[in-house]
Amino acid sequence: MKIVGGKWTNWSGSVRFKPRAVIDPKTEVDLAIAVRKTEGHVRFPGNGHSFAPLNQTDGTLIDLSAFTGLNGFDPQREVATIAAATPLWGLASLLHPLGYALKNMGDIDRQTLGGAIATGTHGTGRAFGSLSADVASFRLLKATGEVVHCSPEENPEIYAAGRLSLGLLGVMTEIDMKVRPVYKLQRKYFLHPIDELFRQLDGLTSANRNFSFFWFPHSDVAVCRSLNETECHAPVRHSARTLLARGERRRADEYVFAGANELLRYLPILMKPSQKLFAAFMSKRQKVRWSHEVYPSPRTVRYNAMEYAVPYEKGAEVLQEVAEAIRKAKIVTAFPLVFRTVAADDIWLSPFYGRESATITVNQYAKMDNRPLFGLCEAIFRNHGGRPHWGKIHTLTRAELAEQYPKFEAFCALRRKLDPAGKFLNDQLDPLFG
Ligand SMILES: Cc1cc2nc3c(=O)[nH]c(=O)nc-3n(C[C@H](O)[C@H](O)[C@H](O)COP(=O)(O)OP(=O)(O)OC[C@H]3O[C@@H](n4cnc5c(N)ncnc54)[C@H](O)[C@@H]3O)c2cc1C
Repeated sequence: MKIVGGKWTNWSGSVRFKPRAVIDPKTEVDLAIAVRKTEGHVRFPGNGHSFAPLNQTDGTLIDLSAFTGLNGFDPQREVATIAAATPLWGLASLLHPLGYALKNMGDIDRQTLGGAIATGTHGTGRAFGSLSADVASFRLLKATGEVVHCSPEENPEIYAAGRLSLGLLGVMTEIDMKVRPVYKLQRKYFLHPIDELFRQLDGLTSANRNFSFFWFPHSDVAVCRSLNETECHAPVRHSARTLLARGERRRADEYVFAGANELLRYLPILMKPSQKLFAAFMSKRQKVRWSHEVYPSPRTVRYNAMEYAVPYEKGAEVLQEVAEAIRKAKIVTAFPLVFRTVAADDIWLSPFYGRESATITVNQYAKMDNRPLFGLCEAIFRNHGGRPHWGKIHTLTRAELAEQYPKFEAFCALRRKLDPAGKFLNDQLDPLFG
C-alpha cells in the first residue's frame, strides 16, 4: 500500500485522503489485536484500483501487504489457499509451477486477490462467473478480532455474503480459490461493422470462450476480442518480475492515446476523427500465451469508470441506447464502451446474482469531468434494471440498491450482526449499508 506525504490515493487519483493512522500487522494474530483494539473506523485497502471511495477513512488504514503468498494446495479438489493480499500477477507465478491457473481474469492483474473478490471483479465469458464465484472458502477476521472459516458447510450465511462484501463484514486473510490445470489462450482482435455485430452477438458470445468488444460511439465498427484455448506453441512464460513490470509499461499506442486524451481537452472537435482512428488502429495482433499473460493489458492512461450489469438479453439494446445518448449529447470522450458477459451466481451482493449478465463499462479520462458522461449513462442503466459494479462509480441510494439487489437487506442485516458498531464503515458506505 502506497502512502505519499501521509496521503493515500487510488489508481485514478479520484480518491485522496489522510488517514489518522496506518498500521501494518505481519501476522493474523497481530491483525486480530489491531482490529479489536483500534478505536474508530478501520479500512483495509487492496491495491487501490477501485474508482469508488471504498477505502477512504477518517480512521485507521490497515496495510495488508504482509498477507501474500501461496499457503497451501489441494490437487484433489483443485483448490489453492492464497493469502488475501497476494497480487493477481504474483498469484499467477505461484500457481503456474504447480501446473494450475485461475479459470478467468479481468483486464488487468494489478489488483490483490482480496480486493478483486471484495468488489466482484470479473472478466468476460458466458461460462464464467466473477472471481468471487470461484471462492471455495475463506478465513474472515471479524470486528471482534475473532477469525471464522466460511464455506458452504461452515458459516454458510457469511460464505454466501462474504465472497463480495467490500470489506464490510471483516478482513479476509486467506482465500481458497477453485483453480484448473494451466492452459494457453489464443487472442484475436478483429473489426466488425457494428450493425452486423449486434446481429451476430449471441453467436459470438457462445462460440468463443471469452468474447468482448470495444465500441467508440462515433465509429461504425467495433474492435472485437476473442480468447480461445489452444494447444499451439506459446513462448516461455514470463518471470514474476517481468509480469510486475509489464503491467506498468507504457507502449507506443498508449503514448498516442494519452496524447489524444490531452488534446481533446482543448480541441474537442477532434473527437470524432480520433475515435474512428483508434478503432481502425487498435492492436490487431494475434498471439498465443499462457492464460495469465493473455487476459491482462497494461493500463497506463488514468481514467475513471462506471460499469453496470444488465440482464444478458438486454445487453445489446442498452449498449446501443448508451452510444446513441452519448452522440446526441455530444459528450467528449476518447474512450470506447466495453461490452462483456458474466455467468449468473448466488452471491448476495453480486451484480450477477441470479441472472446471466452483460456488463457495459463507460470510461472517462481522469482529468476530465466524468459527471456528464456517467450521469447520462447511469440513467439508462437504471431504466433497464442495471446493477452497478461495486468498485466503480455509481450514485445509487440505499433504497435504489435494495430494489436491484434481491439480497441487499439480508446483507445489511448480516453486516449489522457482525459489526454492530460500524467499525468497517466510512462516510460513503454508512448511508448505504449502515
Ligand atoms: C485499470 C483498471 C482496470 C480494471 N479492470 C477491471 C476488470 O477487468 N474487471 C472488473 O471487474 N474490474 C476491473 N477493475 C476494478 C478493480 O478490479 C476493482 O476495483 C478491485 O476491487 C481492485 O482491487 P484492489 O486490490 O485494488 O482493491 P481496492 O480497490 O484497494 O479495494 C477494494 C475493496 O476491497 C476491500 N478489500 C481489500 N482487501 C480485502 C480483504 N483482504 N478482505 C476484505 N476486503 C478487502 C477493500 O476494503 C475495498 O473495500 C479495474 C480497475 C482499474 C483501475
